[in-house]
Amino acid sequence: MIEIQSLHKSFGPLEVLKGIDLTVNKGEVVTIIGGSGSGKSTLLTCINGLEPIASGKVIVDGIEVHAKSTNLNTLRQKIGIVFQQWNAFPHLTVLENVTLAPRKVLGLSKAEAEAIGEKQLSHVGLGAKLSTYPTMLSGGQQQRMAIARALAMSPDYMLFDEVTSALDPQLVGEVLETLKMLAEEGMTMICVTHEMAFARDVSHRVAYFHRGVMAEIGAPEQIFGDPQHEETRKFLASVR
Ligand code: ADP
Ligand code: MG
Repeated sequence: MIEIQSLHKSFGPLEVLKGIDLTVNKGEVVTIIGGSGSGKSTLLTCINGLEPIASGKVIVDGIEVHAKSTNLNTLRQKIGIVFQQWNAFPHLTVLENVTLAPRKVLGLSKAEAEAIGEKQLSHVGLGAKLSTYPTMLSGGQQQRMAIARALAMSPDYMLFDEVTSALDPQLVGEVLETLKMLAEEGMTMICVTHEMAFARDVSHRVAYFHRGVMAEIGAPEQIFGDPQHEETRKFLASVR
């Protein structure tokens, strides 16, 4: 379970998270929507300890992420994160890219890492691309490779930050299908997205962020059908 309690985060004088409270339960899919600069990406980077925080707490499976005693490397193995774009190593094959971290970080043998890498690449529909070089893949395939790479570490949680935003429109669907598959398998996920249909269809809860505040959170039917907050209504009108 991920528990975020009264989380405050600033960059210099700019307060970008102004007291976020959010609990994400095992198996839950929470989608975060909101305007540019509202703090969505910053929240994700605080969850896996990529960013220090000003105050509050982030607790993952009972471990306080920002406590001095916390081993961030161990923690990050639990939490996969996929960004808008991931620059794969161009001189390594798809399989080599995916097996790098399991070998280096988890210390798996080449054979063990390859077995996992093949399994995860097949899982995201890239079983035929193991020996291909990343530059030969489409944008959608590259994002699925990035997802397989994160899954190869056997994470308990997955964080997705606008993973379809850099894609040509015709490639968005295949990546969203992969996310939907993971959700249906019970992966605990936090997805920052601009894809409102995905948020509506796949999430258990949708959170609307506005200027560093989680203005509203609720079931998709409620957020999209009966938003309570004026800013949520304005935002949804602007993206429809
Ligand atoms: P979102 O993902 O919702 O678009 P971000 O979390 O990326 O928003 O950014 C929130 C605010 O924090 C923005 O005003 C952004 O300019 C600022 N910000 C993000 N990262 C940094 C950084 N590393 N240094 C300074 N300001 C940052
Ligand atoms: Mg962002």
